[in-house]
Amino acid sequence: MKRFKIVLALILTMTAVLVLGNIALADEPVSGAPVKIYSVDDLLTIKDNPAGTYELMTDIDLNGVEWPAITFTGRFKGNGHYILNLNKAAVSEETRVTYDGNRKTYDTHFAGLFAIAENASITGVRLLGIDLMHNFDGDCFLGGIAGFASETVIENCEVVGSIRLDVDNGRMFGVGGVIGYGNAVIRDCVIDVTLVNTDLDKANRDEQYLGGICGAGYPDIDGCTIDIAGYISDHGYVHSGGMVGMYIIYPKRFDRDGFVKNNTLKGFITFFEDNTNRRAYCVKDFGEVMDHKFSEANNTFDFKRDERKDYSVNLLPHMCDNPDFEDAVHDAAGEAPGYTEHTCKTCGYSYRDQYTTPVHTLSADFNVVTEATVEAPGLAEYTCVSCGAVLRQEIPSLTPTPTPTSTPTPAPDDGKDTKSSSDDTKKSGDDDKVNPLLPIACGILFIVGAVLTAQVILHRRERKRMLARRKQRNRKQ
Ligand SMILES: [Zn+2]
Ligand SMILES: [Zn+2]
Repeated sequence: MKRFKIVLALILTMTAVLVLGNIALADEPVSGAPVKIYSVDDLLTIKDNPAGTYELMTDIDLNGVEWPAITFTGRFKGNGHYILNLNKAAVSEETRVTYDGNRKTYDTHFAGLFAIAENASITGVRLLGIDLMHNFDGDCFLGGIAGFASETVIENCEVVGSIRLDVDNGRMFGVGGVIGYGNAVIRDCVIDVTLVNTDLDKANRDEQYLGGICGAGYPDIDGCTIDIAGYISDHGYVHSGGMVGMYIIYPKRFDRDGFVKNNTLKGFITFFEDNTNRRAYCVKDFGEVMDHKFSEANNTFDFKRDERKDYSVNLLPHMCDNPDFEDAVHDAAGEAPGYTEHTCKTCGYSYRDQYTTPVHTLSADFNVVTEATVEAPGLAEYTCVSCGAVLRQEIPSLTPTPTPTSTPTPAPDDGKDTKSSSDDTKKSGDDDKVNPLLPIACGILFIVGAVLTAQVILHRRERKRMLARRKQRNRKQ
């Protein structure tokens, strides 16, 4: 019987190890492994863990999606995929302290792909058709990648679209193509933006900032291509530049020499400064430079400073007496996303929006992420042979009639990410992580079972023999 107890204890221990091991693997992603993003729902989970590491696996269309204000402190790897039509990004409740040229401080709100980015890294994200537009009461900055940035690296990103901030009762506000306010290393980015900043409060003087890269702050800028169309209407002090509205060391004790090099800029800023004590800062690179702790080298400019003196009408990209738009839908072609172009027949002004995802060339073979069962649909993933985008498709759940193997639906030929499967895609990242101990543990369990069975058989035989001997003895007696 002692042997039985030992074997039983062994089995119980093995089972416990196996079960606990599996639970741990299912619930905790491997430390340092990025969370893979396949859908809008996946992207929205960043809000729940803003310190996490994320990797974009395909293009995401945020058209009409209420995008939350996120204070991001993690890593975001875009892999060169698009985030399309970010057009409903919320302004943060959270504030950070900004200061003007006199170091006067303001509790300020922010919006962008990330409202606030601190000690973060954001690489390879292509924001196409971004349309940030806010009418804000108070102090606020908008930026394509981040409204506010601190100690953050932004590399190989693209910002194409429009950012507009109309402010009432603000004293400190502005817009930037990449970041609104703060400091960051911004490297090898492509920016093609229309920036509009309108001061609605004619009674009070304010500090207003606009820049192709950054509204105000201390960014390092290297290897960027900037195309800016800027519009500022201000009843206060304008600080505007092709790259940075006001170049100022931020934070105050930031003891580091900055650099601005190897950038190419073209564009214009149209503005008025309605102020008896006019400064009207508008320069191709930096509107106003407060600190000189940076080196500037190898930048090229094709910039137009366009100051207006009519303070009665706010300056906007389209100021047409008789707007009459004609819309043309351009379908996505190959890796080029689609879009709708709106052209005014009266004046020729045009803009693009409603971008659509590229038509990916999907591989013929696919990975089954989760097998379909009678109870639940499965999940298959296809890879684009051109750009490496990974698109996930639902495998329909099995019918109760006996079908030995599951077959996924054919590859989507329109290349569009299927949103319907987004709920299933969420957890699938965990599902494909099989405990490597599983086969070993199964083998051990099998051997232990066999030993146990043999023991039982031997034990029974022994008992039978004993009984037989006893019977014989009884007969003899
Ligand atoms: Zn027009
Ligand atoms: Zn592709």
